[in-house]
Amino acid sequence: MSQFITVLGATGSIGNSTLDVIARHPGKYQVFALTAHTQVEAMAALCIVHTPRYAVMGSEGAAKKLQDTLRTQACKTEVLFGVGALCDVSRDPEVSQVMAAIVGAAGLLPTLAAAKAGKRVLLANKEALVMSGQLFMDAIQDNNASLLPIDSEHNAIFQSLPVNYKSDPLAQKQVRKILLTASGGPFRGYSRNQLSQVTPSQAVKHPNWSMGQKISVDSASLMNKGLELIEACWLFDRPPNDVEVVVHPESIIHSMVQYIDGSVMAQMGNPDMRTPIAYGLAWPERIDSGVDSLNFFDIAQLNFEAPDNQAFPNLNLSRQAFEAGGTAATILNAANEVAVEAFLREQISFTAISDMVDAALNHCEVNKADSIEGILQADSLARRFVQGKIKA
Ligand code: NAD
Ligand code: MG
Repeated sequence: MSQFITVLGATGSIGNSTLDVIARHPGKYQVFALTAHTQVEAMAALCIVHTPRYAVMGSEGAAKKLQDTLRTQACKTEVLFGVGALCDVSRDPEVSQVMAAIVGAAGLLPTLAAAKAGKRVLLANKEALVMSGQLFMDAIQDNNASLLPIDSEHNAIFQSLPVNYKSDPLAQKQVRKILLTASGGPFRGYSRNQLSQVTPSQAVKHPNWSMGQKISVDSASLMNKGLELIEACWLFDRPPNDVEVVVHPESIIHSMVQYIDGSVMAQMGNPDMRTPIAYGLAWPERIDSGVDSLNFFDIAQLNFEAPDNQAFPNLNLSRQAFEAGGTAATILNAANEVAVEAFLREQISFTAISDMVDAALNHCEVNKADSIEGILQADSLARRFVQGKIKA
């Protein structure tokens, strides 16, 4: 029998790759619901191909437009809108897996709803975990949900850890370090001064990966690696000192695990998100993802270097936020989201992004992160603080 899947953020880069993998295995997976924020045309095209039972849009207006379009195509998908509907299609009893691929904090509530309903959660939306940390991990554990990391690095780490890592403290002791690889982004080697001059169109041109705008800017500023450091600490229950960032410009090794006997396990592959997506969908099996095999003769060499923490302060800010605990990482994430949007609108410089995050961490009060209300309040206060600075 095929499994029903909800794809949150279906019109995005991860959403599209997910639907590509699902479509390769029609007997195994079926789309239950697709969601998107504003893109009516893209969503209509997806509904016609994948015939989900539900489609969820961000607003009533977008939902009406989509429903009208689908009617003319005789597509029977029922169109809903709003956060309540996002949560409903994530926790529906018929759904077995939820791909969490909304970008940013907007993905938190539906992703949490999937966890609370005991689903298999395929987590691409790292911001949801960064901002809610322990609360999210508890929701997974308490409801017998499973959490499969889709972020390529964390998927690689998951593949390289001992299979009994979660359940056996001895297996955890055998792991010395997690080596989180980073491409370095389009501005690797730039000085802080050079970085202050770069434009949004330069920032979104990632050398190896094709991704949404926000994560592309985060990759250029190394905030993506900062968020991933926090993500790794939660997913694999390690302190930040056990996670070392290794810049590897080719993005062939997707991350590594170093063991106490000196062994290092790495997961490699072409930089194509369909590999971790297929692994998450089928785990513990493996299925065809449509990704070509690696050709080592074409690659010829792999390079490694240390990150430049002077030019790119976001990594250290993320480390500090995780160590501070409570809502500090929520504040870091919210401040970054607002600053990245302002940079994309050309309201602030590229280097102002990390300046704003730094200022928010210094200014906003850190509280306990033990309730969803407290987390959302910290998120909105940090947003307001950064918006005020942008206008000033
Ligand atoms: P994207 O911008 O291409 O797509 C984002 C999706 O979220 C779209 O479907 C959009 O409609 C939806 N969305 C945006 N704002 C929304 C809102 N307020 N409410 C509801 N839906 C909203 O982004 P992406 O590159 O696919 O990334 C998605 C997530 O996956 C991000 O958290 C990113 O960090 C993570 N991720 C992406 C990649 C990648 O290769 N693209 C790799 C690893 C992790
Ligand atoms: Mg990643």
